[in-house]
Amino acid sequence: MNKIAVLPGDGIGAEIVPPALEAVKEAGRKYGYRFDFKHGLIGGAAYDETGHPLPEETLKLCKESDAVILGAVGGPKWENLPVHLRPEVGALLPIRKHLGLFANLRPVQVFPQLADASTLKTELVSGLDIMIVRELTGGLYFGDKKKEPIDGGYRVVDTLVYTTPEIDRVARLSFELAQKRGGRLTSVDKANVLETSRHWREVVVNLAQEYSDVELSHIYVDNCAMQLVRDPKQFDVMVTENMFGDILTDLAAQLTGSIGMLPSASIGGDVALYEPIHGSAPDIAGKDLANPLATILSAAMMLRITYNMEQAAADIEKAVTKVLEDGYRTGDIMQPGMKQVGTKEMGELVLQHLRG
Ligand code: NAD
Repeated sequence: MNKIAVLPGDGIGAEIVPPALEAVKEAGRKYGYRFDFKHGLIGGAAYDETGHPLPEETLKLCKESDAVILGAVGGPKWENLPVHLRPEVGALLPIRKHLGLFANLRPVQVFPQLADASTLKTELVSGLDIMIVRELTGGLYFGDKKKEPIDGGYRVVDTLVYTTPEIDRVARLSFELAQKRGGRLTSVDKANVLETSRHWREVVVNLAQEYSDVELSHIYVDNCAMQLVRDPKQFDVMVTENMFGDILTDLAAQLTGSIGMLPSASIGGDVALYEPIHGSAPDIAGKDLANPLATILSAAMMLRITYNMEQAAADIEKAVTKVLEDGYRTGDIMQPGMKQVGTKEMGELVLQHLRG
């Protein structure tokens, strides 16, 4: 039996995860695959129940599973907790670290039916297909933090740290992805200012000798942000530091029409974790407004990457395409002339196509 840990988390998590599980079940049924879903607590929901946003029991469940499906964590209710108990710092960062998930793959693909939904001109985004690899267990989010009182206020420190092996492994994975895709890799850094970025670049340049079939380029992160909205199709695979990747992928999400469309896979350890790139969207939680497609597409990535169930993954992606072709849209991707549906109905429509 294929064992999946299910962590809906907070906000819209409880609404977007169930349709993804249904899609996995339905896609698997056709090929005789069976899945054992075990639910666990994470984030604010876990804090409310157990006093900690990442209970030991949840970690154990994840480690005993093949893969984890996560909704999202966080929300205003938990914003004023001590930092180490906040859902993002106390649960998201440690779960990535504990599971050794050093690479976050974020495919930015524009469904042809949504090319008009982007805030950018259709010709700039139609056919867009890039892969952003965000380093996930190092960099600015994981370095030492400090806040100490001084005359006139505080001295506050976040530290950006990388070791050679940390850069090497994520860059290697990115070169290999580029080999399987368009053969181009762009390394995004800030080597004109940051020491870590200069070393990042050295490591990537050294590795390039092993991947002579990949065309390597470098770009500063500020220019990269500009290039992503100026001409996003110039990129194939991109690899970058943790926080740079966080920011650039939210920007890239908008190219696809909505953050509600972007899936992700966090890999590197024995157990991979699949989640949409968006957060818990407290502003629309509980209103049947959330777009479940990013989570459904994350589940398709799980079938492909963890289980090698290529056909079942492709079936889910095809079902999503069909639903969009039929003109159904959640509010975030709604356009004139289309049919607006809620979270549940969107999930049901995907299921109908999977059932054939
Ligand atoms: P967010 O991604 O939750 O929301 C940003 C905007 O996008 C909101 O207007 C929201 O309504 C919209 N949106 C997001 N997902 C959507 C979906 N599936 N369908 C339709 N619209 C969607 O980011 P935020 O508002 O900055 O953060 C809210 C909370 O989520 C915070 O507590 C934050 O720390 C947390 N967060 C968690 C994760 C995670 O769990 N991986 C990631 C980012 C933010």
